[in-house]
Amino acid sequence: NYRCRSAFKLIEMDEKYSILKPGFSVIDCGAAPGAWSQVAVQRVNSTGERPDLPRGSVIGIDLLHIAPLEGAHFLFNQDITDANMHTVLQRLLPQTHADVILSDMAPNASGFRELDHERLVSMCFSLLELAEKLLRPGGSLVCKYWDGASTHKLREHLTHSFRDVRTVKPKASRKESAELYFLARMFRKM
Ligand code: SAM
Repeated sequence: NYRCRSAFKLIEMDEKYSILKPGFSVIDCGAAPGAWSQVAVQRVNSTGERPDLPRGSVIGIDLLHIAPLEGAHFLFNQDITDANMHTVLQRLLPQTHADVILSDMAPNASGFRELDHERLVSMCFSLLELAEKLLRPGGSLVCKYWDGASTHKLREHLTHSFRDVRTVKPKASRKESAELYFLARMFRKM
């Protein structure tokens, strides 16, 4: 039972691209109400449910409150674009690095398409800064974006930092929704 249908988008991406593996450390940005974290907890084995497999960890962060979830550590009423948060996360991570950064974040839509696009892109840039601080070499970043004038610039920056960057539109994402995801893999640490 997932807290939100959005779980199926992450499941779909993970089935196709094997992003989450047992033992991985995951940071889930914009985690409320917690469905992606539920998927991550299962797939990285952060409750240790499978004692035969390595045990991972999941940290979820959101501006909103998130109800507790076994296997996840939630930081709520927190803004991931705040650089102080980056330091807090670094301290919480088991080996000071993450294997995967997930982001299903979105700002509250203003209704002005280009403005919303620009705001979400600038949040993605802040995730890229977070990645530079704590993603391990070879790690992955999944981030939601809305298409627009700055998509190209964002993709260029991702391509500079990751060896493999692709756009993914999960089938589970409603057709009328303009959301897309960048899946950036094989992080090159500068
Ligand atoms: N993936 C989640 C799930 O499966 O349950 C759903 C995420 S929801 C679509 C987007 C979330 O991003 C919202 O809960 C919102 O509060 C959060 N968010 C937006 N801006 C944020 C920021 N700067 N820092 C942290 N969370 C943010």
